[in-house]
Amino acid sequence: MKIAILSRNKKLYSTRRLVEASEQRGHEAMVVDVLRSYMNIASSKPEVHFKVENLPAIDAVIPRIGASVTFYGTAVLRQFEMMGAFPLCESVAISRSRDKLRSLQLLSRKGVGLPNTGFAHNPDDIGDLIKMVGGAPLVIKLLEGTQGIGVVLAETRKAAESVIEAFMGLKANILVQEYIKEAGGADIRCLVIGDKVVAAMKRQAQAGEFRSNLHRGGSAALIKITPAERATAIKAAKIMGLNVAGVDILRSERGPLVMEVNSSPGLEGIEAATGKDIAGMIIEFIEKNAKPHNTRTKGKG
Ligand code: ADP
Ligand code: MG
Repeated sequence: MKIAILSRNKKLYSTRRLVEASEQRGHEAMVVDVLRSYMNIASSKPEVHFKVENLPAIDAVIPRIGASVTFYGTAVLRQFEMMGAFPLCESVAISRSRDKLRSLQLLSRKGVGLPNTGFAHNPDDIGDLIKMVGGAPLVIKLLEGTQGIGVVLAETRKAAESVIEAFMGLKANILVQEYIKEAGGADIRCLVIGDKVVAAMKRQAQAGEFRSNLHRGGSAALIKITPAERATAIKAAKIMGLNVAGVDILRSERGPLVMEVNSSPGLEGIEAATGKDIAGMIIEFIEKNAKPHNTRTKGKG
C-alpha cells in the first residue's frame, strides 16, 4: 500500500516510527507536510499537490495533525478522503475531538464518567458556576491548551474567582472542573486501536505538581488497568469516532473519569513504558481495514 503520513516534521519520534513500521511491513510510506500541500477542489477529480507534485493515488492516510493546524490539516485530510484514501482517523472525528466542550458533551450524553465540568461566557455568572461544579478546589482549563499549559489548580473559591475573571478578561475560552484529588497527581493513558486497549501507562506528576503531562516533568510507568477502565477507554474512543485514540483517565472514588480523548497520541512515551510496537499495530490495523472510500462521511462531514 501507499501510505501518507500527515506530519509537519519527519524527525518526530512518532512520525519516524510510523514510516519505519510501514516499510517493515512492505508498504511505501511518505511524509506529507499539510502546510505545504494545496488542493484542487473545483474539479470533479479532487487532487492534492505537495511541493509542486501531484500526489499519486494514496491507499491510506495517517493524520498526525498538530493542534495549531487543525483547521487546514483536516481540510487536507478531507481531500484525501474525497479521493478514496482510507483515513486512520476521519477528519470529522479529529475536528470533534479538538473541541473540548463538544467532546465532553458527546461523552456525557452517552453516560461516560467525567469530572463535573462547567463553562460560562459571562463573568457575572462565576459565583454560580463555581457552586455548580461543587466549589473549590477547582481546576480551570484554557480550551485551547495542550501539554498541561493553561491548566490551573485553584485551591480556594477566592483564587478560583480571580483566575476565572482574569481568563475571561482576556477573552479566553475556559472550562471549570471538579478537582479529582484522590487521583494523586496521576492519570492513565489508554491507547486504543480499533476496539481494543493495546497499551496503558500511568503518568505521575513530579512532586508538588498536579499535572501529570510528560512535558511538565511527569514520569510514565507500566500499569494494569481494571476492566471498568478498559471498557471506559474503548467506549470513549468509539463515541468520538476515532480508530486510534489516547484516552486519558483519572482514577476517582466513583470510578474511571475521562479527562480527554486525543486523536494523535504520541508514541514515544507509551512505546518506552510498555515496550510494545504500537506503530506496527497501527499499520496492521490499516492493513485489515483500509478499503477505498471506507469512511462513514466520504469527506462530506
Ligand atoms: P492538556 O490538554 O493540557 O494535557 P489536561 O486536561 O489533560 O490538559 O490536564 C493536564 C493534567 O492535569 C492531566 O494530565 C492531569 O494530571 C491533571 N488534571 C487535569 N484535570 C484534572 C482534574 N479535574 N482533577 C485532577 N487532575 C487533573
Ligand atoms: Mg492532557
